[in-house]
Amino acid sequence: MSSTSFNAAVSILRTLHRIHRQLTDLKERLDRGPRRVRAAEANVKRNEDALEKIRAEAKVLRVATDHKQLQLKAGEDKIKDLRRKLNAAVSNREYQALLDQIAADEMTNSILTDEILEALEESDAFVKNIAEADGTLAAARQKAEENHAEIARQEPLLRADVDRLEAELRGAESDLPGDALDLYRRVVRQKGEDALAVVDNQCCDGCNQQVPLNICSQIMLGKPVACNTCGRLLYLPE
Ligand SMILES: [Zn+2]
Repeated sequence: MSSTSFNAAVSILRTLHRIHRQLTDLKERLDRGPRRVRAAEANVKRNEDALEKIRAEAKVLRVATDHKQLQLKAGEDKIKDLRRKLNAAVSNREYQALLDQIAADEMTNSILTDEILEALEESDAFVKNIAEADGTLAAARQKAEENHAEIARQEPLLRADVDRLEAELRGAESDLPGDALDLYRRVVRQKGEDALAVVDNQCCDGCNQQVPLNICSQIMLGKPVACNTCGRLLYLPE
């Protein structure tokens, strides 16, 4: 091989490696898009569930409080009734029994009143928590929409870049001399986009293992050589 075609082959390998790296990067970015959309949607769902849970808890509290208020009302009516009976009592014994009953019912009502007040305070806290969860959900929804729009805008640009680079890749591949092309195709079949590595300081940049001197000289002579350790097709830096 003449030195011109050797230099050409080396610079083609360099170009091929650059294109492969750019393609890998673009494909990762393309994959990342849907992952980000899914993550944002999962976040919306999580916030919806959280809001629904708080609302359900608030409802349970409200039903329990309504029930206690009805109980209290019934208790107060009962005491009124007992007081009427008190006025009509015919014996001390009956009078005392009614007084005892009234005292017991008043105690029950007082406990209920405390519980109702507590529940109303708790209910105020729920109102605040629901408003917060609502806000968080709205923010998550907006974030998901923005994400979606951004990714939808980027995707065609990324795909166009992929198409352009793939065309560039085919062009560069067709420029490779025959023996280099055979080895290149074999390694690409096995290692995909990870098929090339630069030799830096006598080390394969792909696996960081030393490249023996005789291999280095073969590369310098323009022979297509793969790394003994990782099998990547080796080329020299500029
Ligand atoms: Zn290697």
